[in-house]
Amino acid sequence: MSIQEQYRKKAAELLSSGEVKLVIGYGAGTTPDRRRPLFVRSADETSKLHLDAACEANLSGYLVTEGLLADRKKVGIFLGPEGIRSVNILASESQLDPDQIVIMGFNREAESVSALEGSNVRDFPAMLAALKEQAPGAGEQALVERIENMTPEERFTFWQAEFEKCIKCYACRQVCPMCYCRRCIVDNNQPQWVQTSSHTLGNFEWNLVRAFHLSGRCVECGGCDRACPVNIPLRLINRRMAMEVLDAYDHFSGMSPDQETVLASFKKDDPETFIL
Ligand code: SF4
Ligand code: SF4
Repeated sequence: MSIQEQYRKKAAELLSSGEVKLVIGYGAGTTPDRRRPLFVRSADETSKLHLDAACEANLSGYLVTEGLLADRKKVGIFLGPEGIRSVNILASESQLDPDQIVIMGFNREAESVSALEGSNVRDFPAMLAALKEQAPGAGEQALVERIENMTPEERFTFWQAEFEKCIKCYACRQVCPMCYCRRCIVDNNQPQWVQTSSHTLGNFEWNLVRAFHLSGRCVECGGCDRACPVNIPLRLINRRMAMEVLDAYDHFSGMSPDQETVLASFKKDDPETFIL
């Protein structure tokens, strides 16, 4: 039985038994190579679920839809490794109770998908440890290194040219499971921290503020890259921040629901030598 069939069956069982109230998965998209989020509430609808190499989106952001988990009922969800990492982060940042989430995990390969064993977010320590060994930067190291090897002036010019294209559509924010604030800093106009119009300074402010907010939190799902209508390589800047955080704190985001947040935690007895 294909993994798609296995997970359709599992979703039907979970819904019929009442173990979950909803399954968040993938449905047919506008073309055969595209998939869109599908919200399934009854066993009859599970035949509409798809699971194949076109299932790219990290669906975990839907779990923090306002009120979804408030009734304490469980929700099933299709998640790749990045999605499992982001559920861990959402749990560690007190945005959800990981025990309310039933995971149907999968690994996406070139042309196919394979099942990940386990259904609770705590069931994947070996897979996450292996990811930590490879990442960040696995697969695109050459490009990261090319930017690293630039002089500061060249790098500034590179990012300036990229950020100049930004039209402030905020699709990168909307798609990101880690951007769950009900009111984003850029929507605040009293005071207005980040200029809203699309010009060089405001675009720099927005993209750098976002990169810092994602430091130690980005799971490299690539959602922002894919959503950006002007193809700014957003994942590169988030990856660079991830490399910094890994190097400085040995922190790889999303390892467990109990992982301490790297830039939002402090110790009262920290000698704070960096200030000196
Ligand atoms: S910043 Fe981009 S790559 Fe990182 S978690 Fe958000 S959408 Fe995914
Ligand atoms: S998706 Fe791209 S164009 Fe839109 S706000 Fe983000 S960086 Fe700018």
